[in-house]
Amino acid sequence: MQLSSRVGELTPSLTLAIDSKAKAMKAEGIDVCSFGAGEPDFDTPDHIKAAALAALDGGFTKYTPSSGIPELRQAISEKFKADNGLDYSPSQVIVSNGAKHSCINAIMAVCDPGDEVIIPAPYWLSYPEMVRLAGAVPVIVETTAENHYKITAEDFENAMTPKTKMIILNTPGNPTGSVYTKEELRALAEVAAEEEIYILSDEIYEKLVYEGAEHVSIASLLPEAYDLTITVNGFSKAYSMTGWRLGYLGAPEKIAKAIDSMQSHSTSNPCSFAQKGGLAALKGDQQGVIDMREEFNIRREYMMDRIDAIPGLSAVRPLGAFYVLASIAKFDLSSTNFADRLLSKASVAVVPGIAFGDDKTFRLSYATSLDVIKKGLDRIEEFVKTL
Ligand code: PMP
Repeated sequence: MQLSSRVGELTPSLTLAIDSKAKAMKAEGIDVCSFGAGEPDFDTPDHIKAAALAALDGGFTKYTPSSGIPELRQAISEKFKADNGLDYSPSQVIVSNGAKHSCINAIMAVCDPGDEVIIPAPYWLSYPEMVRLAGAVPVIVETTAENHYKITAEDFENAMTPKTKMIILNTPGNPTGSVYTKEELRALAEVAAEEEIYILSDEIYEKLVYEGAEHVSIASLLPEAYDLTITVNGFSKAYSMTGWRLGYLGAPEKIAKAIDSMQSHSTSNPCSFAQKGGLAALKGDQQGVIDMREEFNIRREYMMDRIDAIPGLSAVRPLGAFYVLASIAKFDLSSTNFADRLLSKASVAVVPGIAFGDDKTFRLSYATSLDVIKKGLDRIEEFVKTL
C-alpha cells in the first residue's frame, strides 16, 4: 500500500507507547505511579459544564460560523486585551478544535514546502511533526539547562538561513516549564522583525506561572512583531477542558482570514455547545484557575525538593506549566532506556526526553495527586541508587 510521503514521514508518539505499557501494567493489577499526564487532573468547573448543558438543552446543536460564534470571538478579543495587552478584533480571532489545531492551522497558513521553521529544543513533541505535515523543514535549535532551556536572540540569528520562515516559541513551556522574560522576548522579537520571520507563540500554559513569574505575549512588545505573530491559546490547561477540544488564535487580519477559509473547508466550526462552555469559562469566576495553580505550586515545590535531594538527578526549577524536566546527564544511558527500566523495575511511568528532542532528560508531570508524587519519587530515589 502506497501512503503519501506526508504521513510516511510521521513518527509515532513515544509518549503514547510508554502510556500504553503503563496502562497494560495497571490492567494486570500492578500499582503504577504515572507521571505522564499532559492534562490537569481536576474536573472542569461546574459553571462551565452548566453553560454547555444549557446550550444542549436549548437545542444549540447545529453548525456555527466556522471560526466560532461571534460572542465567543468577542470575549476572546477582550481577553487578549485585558490579559495580554493585545489588540485583536473579533475578526482576527479564530476558534478551533484545541490549541493543537490552532498551531497546525497557523503553520499551514504561513509555511510553504521547503520553508524552514526554527524550533527550540526541548520542544513540545507535536511541533516538528506539524511542520513536516506542512511540507516545511523543522530546524531544531538546542538550548541549555544553564539558560533555563530558552533560546537566545543570538541562537536565533545563528540558526537563520534565507529559507527561515517561522520560529515557534512556547512560554510557559512544555516540557521545560521555562517562562521567557519580557527582555528575552523583546530581543527575540527584534530579530524576528528585522528579518521578517513569523512567530508562532504558543501560550497555552499562560495561567500556570509560579514564584511571581509573569507571562508576557511577544506580540505585545513591538508593533513589527505583532504584524508577524500568531498568538495561540486555549481552554484545555487553564480551565481543565482538554476533552472539550477548544482553542483559539489571534493573528493579523490577512492570516486570520486565510485560516478562516482553511478551517471552513476542513473541520468547520468547533463543537457548538463546547463554545458556550468556553464563553462561560472566560466570562465567569476565575477562582478555579487560581485554586488549581496553588495546588500545582505545592506539588511543584515538593517535587523539586525531592529531585534536588536525589544524588545524580537535577532539574532546572520550572516557573510555569505543570512539568519538571529532570536531567540524567550523570548516567550513561539513553532517556528511553532510563524510562523503560524505571517502568519495568520500579513501576513508575515518565516520558523520555528523546520525545522532546533531548536524550539526557525525562519529564515528570505533577498533574497528579501529591500521594502519587510522594510514592513515585520514593521509588525513583531507590531506582536511581541501582544505576
Ligand atoms: N501546546 C502545548 C505546548 C501543549 O502542551 C498542548 C497540550 N499538550 C497543546 C498545545 C494542545 O492543547 P489543546 O488541548 O488545546 O489542543
